[in-house]
Amino acid sequence: MGTSSERAEAARQGGHSAQLTAGGPGAPRMAPEDGRAAGGAQPPVALSPSRASDFQQCPLLYRFRVIDKLPEKPSAAATRGTVVHAVLERLFDAPAAERTAPGARAMVPGEWEKLLARRPELAELFADDADGERLSAWLAEAEALVERWFSLEDPTRLEPAERELYVETVLESGLQLRGFIDRVDIAPTGEVRIVDYKTGKAPRPQFAEGALFQMKFYALVMWRRGGAVPRRLQLVYLGSGDVVTYDPTEADLRGVERKLLALWEAIQLATRTGDWRPRPTKLCGWCDHQAHCPEFGGTPPVYPLQVRPAEPGGEPQGRMGAI
Ligand code: SF4
Repeated sequence: MGTSSERAEAARQGGHSAQLTAGGPGAPRMAPEDGRAAGGAQPPVALSPSRASDFQQCPLLYRFRVIDKLPEKPSAAATRGTVVHAVLERLFDAPAAERTAPGARAMVPGEWEKLLARRPELAELFADDADGERLSAWLAEAEALVERWFSLEDPTRLEPAERELYVETVLESGLQLRGFIDRVDIAPTGEVRIVDYKTGKAPRPQFAEGALFQMKFYALVMWRRGGAVPRRLQLVYLGSGDVVTYDPTEADLRGVERKLLALWEAIQLATRTGDWRPRPTKLCGWCDHQAHCPEFGGTPPVYPLQVRPAEPGGEPQGRMGAI
């Protein structure tokens, strides 16, 4: 998601009541975690695209992240994504004529330093890099991603309405949705375009729906907040130099809403019963929690929430993979 899901700053915490909050230039992406609250484990209270994706990938992974809040190692790829996103956000602070590729590349080391100051634990990424060679290569990769963006969009012709926009809404059902949108453009006609930067490569067509789901999630939040259905959703893949667009309809968004409600019911059932099933896939290779996962011989921590048995005939959450 890379994401957004690829970004280390997607770690959410705290509590928000505002319906719409701009993060502000360079502000870290700190938002309420779906179930996070001070003072111990809490049941999930909201859904974000990243956590919805976690649950669909593996319910046990969702539990480890949202309920147990198990720590995860910093990732070089996710951290690079955070730095690239910060540059693409801050770049618009400058007057249009000064938004150049060399200028943007030059911002990369400074944004890394700022991120490191906020999150000193990221130093461990380069702890064994005595000569600084790996750090230099990593920064060069980030600079290349930033530079590629200039072949896909022209920032001298863009004036975003919002950058790093925190959005939140409560559906009629009571389900709270929240997330961050990289950029919102509003045309003189009032039409809205939602833009998301991905530092990875565009997925093959058969996997494109997953990335679009995140964008439709944001579109649903914008629409249900009382706005119009966004005219266009745009994914900018810096890794491969692709731009994917989709023009959603009300029917699309109603479909996403139904899926999210089904997903939320499955999450609530698992929360009540404590029945969080592992769903092993190739993605387990990237999971930090194998030591706690029964699929890899591990044992999950003691479940920190009160357990209530499932209703007879209730749908086991392990079957919700098709959502
Ligand atoms: S290792 Fe795989 S199955 Fe186990 S929790 Fe992680 S993603 Fe789920």
